[in-house]
Amino acid sequence: MKTVWDKYNDEKLNELMNFSEGYKDYLTNGKTERECTKKAIEIAKSYGFKDISEYDSLKTGDKVYVNNRNKGLCAFIIGEKPMEEGMNILGAHIDSPRIDIKQNPLYEDHGLVLMDTHYYGGIKKYQWVAHPMALHGVVCKKDGTTVDVVIGEKDDDPVVGISDLLIHLSGDQMQKTGAKVVEGEDLNVLVGSMPLKTEDEDKKDLVKENILKILKDTYGIEEDDFISAELEIVPAGKTRDYGLDRSMVMGYGHDDRICAYTSLMAILDTVNPERTACCILVDKEEVGSQGNTGMQSRFFENTIAEIMDKLEGYSELKLRRTLRNSYMLSSDVSAGFDPNYPSVNELKNTAFLGKGICFNKYTGARGKSGCNDANPEYIAKLRRVMDDNEVMFQTSELGRVDQGGGGTIAYILANMDMEVIDAGIAVQNMHACYEVASKADIYEAYLAYKAFLKDMK
Ligand code: MN
Ligand code: MN
Repeated sequence: MKTVWDKYNDEKLNELMNFSEGYKDYLTNGKTERECTKKAIEIAKSYGFKDISEYDSLKTGDKVYVNNRNKGLCAFIIGEKPMEEGMNILGAHIDSPRIDIKQNPLYEDHGLVLMDTHYYGGIKKYQWVAHPMALHGVVCKKDGTTVDVVIGEKDDDPVVGISDLLIHLSGDQMQKTGAKVVEGEDLNVLVGSMPLKTEDEDKKDLVKENILKILKDTYGIEEDDFISAELEIVPAGKTRDYGLDRSMVMGYGHDDRICAYTSLMAILDTVNPERTACCILVDKEEVGSQGNTGMQSRFFENTIAEIMDKLEGYSELKLRRTLRNSYMLSSDVSAGFDPNYPSVNELKNTAFLGKGICFNKYTGARGKSGCNDANPEYIAKLRRVMDDNEVMFQTSELGRVDQGGGGTIAYILANMDMEVIDAGIAVQNMHACYEVASKADIYEAYLAYKAFLKDMK
């Protein structure tokens, strides 16, 4: 069998194609970690999951989630076996590369109003200019209220964007290296060009005043409120089918909402697991997993402690044993082979679109530096689970040796003493405004995650 497509009959292929519809909706409506968390909780609730605060005590079969500051969550199904025998954990990140608005963003320059930004995550900056962009996020006000902002997604919404230099005047620019063609400090978002009508002749910056008036009238936001806001500039518009055969999906934020959605659906569709099933959706991976919403936060261990407390009583030793005896799939995207750029790969160890979920024994850079190198004993168990459940998988490295590199949350969980391997979906255009993945791989990853939760032991 060569690809996932060869594996299924027409009826199953229909099911495969339909699975991506739910994902497309999730991605279209989840463009920030907050939106992804909110939507994930909404879906989980519809499957009978409840917030931990709604449980006085927990027992086998209970479905529970813990919300981390609206920017991530952990969902659990309590297994038949004691927690200290270990959990089966899926973890994916729901932050994606983007352009963040600075704390003092607004200024007027020759009749145009712009917002200053600081990009988030590793991007080729030149890819993020001259696109329709949307503004998503929250503004937290001094009175304790939070205003949700989404501008640029409805058909009749305006969009914003970052300009690029016209080719006619790009003589100097085109001589620069890719890293310098568009510089970080120049990623300013154009948001207005029309002055406020006023009798007051002393008023200056009337275009900016007009934008402030619109923000005040529509959202009740003052200029000072930007200080306590989290506003993100992201590509505007819907996730779409890609390819004349509709076999792929193009959208903003596959990395890593594609593994987040498939992991979430896998735990929601899991029934009576032997080992406690866990799904982690986490923030801040693209900037090193630091902070209280990143994977390095004690939030995860604290959450396990809270679960144990309501289940059988907390003990430090039992918590340590739970972590030590757990298995984890660090679910994150892989670099899919691209016929336009074949030279960056070594073809025997490369992920291909349509060949199923991809296991990366290690990531890292320059001699595996910074990697979690999964233990072969663990990989052998995984192979058995995948084969027993007829799940198609492939293995890969992140490109040729010394071509580049990268990392995921894998090492963080492995540092907690559990068995971890990277497992995810191959994508093209990683970290560009629009990434591409195969519907076959999306479906097969979901099946892989389900098999892992059910059978890994
Ligand atoms: Mn990722
Ligand atoms: Mn990434």
